[in-house]
Amino acid sequence: MSLDTTLMKEAVYIAGEWIPADSGKTIEVINPATGDTIGTVPHCGGAETARAIDAAHAAFGPWKAKTAAERAGLMQKLADEIMANIDALAEILVTEMGKPLAEAKGEIAGGVNYIRFFAEEARRVYGDIIPSPWTGKKIFVTKEAVGVVGAITPWNFPNSMIARKLGAALAAGCTMVIKPSELTPFSALAYGVLAEKAGIPKGVINVLTGDAPEIGTEMCSNPKLRKITFTGSTRVGKLLASNATANMKKISMELGGNAPFIVFDDADIDRAVAGAIASKFRNSGQTCVCANRIYVQAGIYDAFAAKLKAAVEAELKPGNGLESGSTQGPLIDERAITKVSDHLQDALAKGATLISGGERAGNVGTFFQPTIVTGATSEMKIATEETFGPLAALFKFETEAEALELANATEYGLACYFYSQDLGRVFRVMEELEYGLVGVNEGVITTEVAPFGGVKDSGMGNEGSKYGLDDYLNIKYSCIGGL
Ligand code: ADP
Repeated sequence: MSLDTTLMKEAVYIAGEWIPADSGKTIEVINPATGDTIGTVPHCGGAETARAIDAAHAAFGPWKAKTAAERAGLMQKLADEIMANIDALAEILVTEMGKPLAEAKGEIAGGVNYIRFFAEEARRVYGDIIPSPWTGKKIFVTKEAVGVVGAITPWNFPNSMIARKLGAALAAGCTMVIKPSELTPFSALAYGVLAEKAGIPKGVINVLTGDAPEIGTEMCSNPKLRKITFTGSTRVGKLLASNATANMKKISMELGGNAPFIVFDDADIDRAVAGAIASKFRNSGQTCVCANRIYVQAGIYDAFAAKLKAAVEAELKPGNGLESGSTQGPLIDERAITKVSDHLQDALAKGATLISGGERAGNVGTFFQPTIVTGATSEMKIATEETFGPLAALFKFETEAEALELANATEYGLACYFYSQDLGRVFRVMEELEYGLVGVNEGVITTEVAPFGGVKDSGMGNEGSKYGLDDYLNIKYSCIGGL
């Protein structure tokens, strides 16, 4: 297979130029399905980051000054370019990250939905006129772009994590410096090519790769950068949040989760099984909203476990994402395999029972079988740590109160799910769960029109919806006197 070389850039994009790192150093990018090197990207540091911020700063005034309709028009052109190149972009995505081709196309099209949604929303950044408490004075409230935004993105959605941030930022009138994960940089660098083709002015979008701590440190301290938007681990998020807020920068943090998935006795079991598969095994379990703890009420526990096992074994097939029929791509790297194995062995050592999977799959790459254990308990690592892999752990509970207590017993608060057909219970449980996103009888709920954001250690801020746009706007109050 040969990847589209016009889209797969081995250079970074700063001020509209494609350049190497100052040092000339590079980073190898590996295909997790084969272990092969697919290319290299520049290993940039603080100096290149500062130049990218300068470029974004220079581009900010003219970009902000465009009308919302002009910005929206260019964003729609970018969205058109992405869709026109979706096959080539999906191949790049699969090759650097591993997910099945259909999921990659879904991710890219989903990202385009964010760009188009925010392009439309750009025209609705309304202000307020507040009745004045003083005669002869008027009170105006307007919303203004925060300025240059630094975006740091993870490897699990190499394309759409950028689209979500870029859509809101560009619509608001902000310019950007994007630093993707070094594990999956080519999807991000392709945005530079497509931005050029779409006619987005130089400097509005800059993409660079390299030393993550150095780039992050420059972003957090450079006075020309006004906001950091980050998706990744809670550990790195806390570091960036403390450094950025020490310099009074705005932050949006989409961090880790430990999603509970609760199935009550009164649930539609087949629906719950389908939801559990979608929520747990999508992206091979590598999303921050993946079910991590599956709590099943005692009355249907055995039936649910049997149906889940049957469905997993019938429907899920690990394999290279470019081969038809594969539903489970590889995990991103050996470290990810080690974590899943560690959580599994810990659970088995503490009394869990393996009912499906449990081993690596295939002879090459970092594949792991979809795995299910029953008899999970709160003492196991899987109860408190995000596994980020295809390990479904079934916990048994007796009462609604117990389920709620267990579900909320975590420092995380991103996504949660529950299945029940009792209307009263639906409302009670929905309100009691301490999470930013709740799927009720639904296992996958993300959409560009709704807010996506966590509470507690899962972060702050929202992506998607009108609330997501607000995160890229400052409020300005102007008082006009002497009237
Ligand atoms: P994961 O464990 O899922 O890879 P990380 O939080 O380590 O999550 O990575 C998410 C993003 O954060 C990646 O782009 C990575 O390069 C970046 N990153 C990692 N460490 C730092 C750091 N110290 N400063 C800034 N960015 C970082």
